[in-house]
Amino acid sequence: MSDFDYDLFVIGAGSGGVRASRVAASHGARVAVAEEYRVGGTCVIRGCVPKKLLVYGAHFAEDIHDARKFGWDVPECRFDWNVLRDNVLAEVDRLEGLYGQTLDNHHVTVFKTRATIVGPQKVRLADGTELTAERILIATGGWPHVPEFPGSEHAITSNEVFHLETLPKRIMIAGGGYIANEFAGIFNEFGSQVTIVNRGDTILRGYDEQIRDRLLQISMTKGIHFKFNVPFRSIEKNDDGTLTVHLENCDPFIVDAVLMATGRVPNTKGIGLEEVGVELDDQGAIKVDETNQSSVPSIYAVGDVTNRIQLTPVAIREGQAFADSVFGGKPTVVDYQNVPSAVFSHPPIGAVGMTEAEARNKLGTVRIYTSDFRAMKNVLAGRNERALYKMVVNAATDQVVGLHMIGPDAPEILQAAAIAVKAGLTKADFDATVALHPSMAEELVLLK
Ligand code: NDP
Repeated sequence: MSDFDYDLFVIGAGSGGVRASRVAASHGARVAVAEEYRVGGTCVIRGCVPKKLLVYGAHFAEDIHDARKFGWDVPECRFDWNVLRDNVLAEVDRLEGLYGQTLDNHHVTVFKTRATIVGPQKVRLADGTELTAERILIATGGWPHVPEFPGSEHAITSNEVFHLETLPKRIMIAGGGYIANEFAGIFNEFGSQVTIVNRGDTILRGYDEQIRDRLLQISMTKGIHFKFNVPFRSIEKNDDGTLTVHLENCDPFIVDAVLMATGRVPNTKGIGLEEVGVELDDQGAIKVDETNQSSVPSIYAVGDVTNRIQLTPVAIREGQAFADSVFGGKPTVVDYQNVPSAVFSHPPIGAVGMTEAEARNKLGTVRIYTSDFRAMKNVLAGRNERALYKMVVNAATDQVVGLHMIGPDAPEILQAAAIAVKAGLTKADFDATVALHPSMAEELVLLK
């Protein structure tokens, strides 16, 4: 029996922290986790899960419209934000309960309070209780970054957007990344007037250029407005609750809400990291090695707080690898090659591997195959919205090094296709696979 209160003390019960806690416990470790907000973390409570449910809710706008072309006599429909919001929040409550149950089932002690580090092997809870642990895992995630300008406090972030009292008739969204494009699609489908304001001239930096252009083009056709290279000057709150937004070189805008979607920063402030000598990088993220160990040997970190790839499944992998390595006698290093990703815009994007530009830089000679098509369902619905699939192939080896897709269900299709890319299969392997007809995914094996 060790002299410590616990073998592992985890700070943060989000995706990475919960996985690490329960796996370490299943390997026999005595584990405690502290969570100051809600068990489940960003993904479950105010990220991927409620967002995806809003995406489903929003997409009914198109489905109801298109159903008429498929013979359904659909009466005029009205959308009620309060019903969807409350149902989504109830589902979040249910999932939070399940996460809590999982921890209980694995005999993980949960402290629903803030914890700070007061020594390499010691934490202090908000009520002053000090506990020791042989190892500490930081899994505190990230927090929305809001640029500083007068009146920025009147804007909301992805933390608040799920709780809006009413659906904004006019919403301005700052940023051109994941959250901006996903929520632009959601609010647009609900009938809000949406304007995206971006500091640069590019949306979704890091995604393949042709795919980004296609989303931009479709979004504009759907009525989403874009303003590029425009910084915010100020936001004023008016007596009637509306907001007047002043942008550089633009007339003032009056909107009902401003959503800041300008990136997320690692949650490392005020938890005692610097005081015990944990090194942070210039973004404030915890520096860790490939075993998730920080500069203090007893302190580890996983997930967004390390700012490697800010995606839930990556945090889960890191939590699992940490627990298996340290408590399960199974050293595991996370492989960050070919991590698939998706943007749940309308329509959604799925991608894995190198973009065309990256492949040209890294490999020299590449072959590019594209399929630019209208999904069968869209044709009958009279929806003039084209999907685009793009395959990037290393010309020297025939290996498929990237797949990039925008179109209905692109993330669902991409997840399966990502296995082939991860496995290093070739264009010839794709060609050798018989098409599944009629489907959108068959385009992947018919690329010429
Ligand atoms: P992103 O990093 O995707 O995009 C941030 C956007 O804000 C970019 O357009 C960026 O511009 C701009 N920006 C950054 N800093 C400033 C600033 N100081 N002033 C003005 N504009 C700024 O961040 P999000 O907030 O959209 O999402 C956060 C993270 O959450 C994502 O990186 C992603 O990892 C994760 N996420 C994943 C989702 C998914 O998997 N589907 C969904 C939602 C979030 P520039 O391009 O010039 O840097």
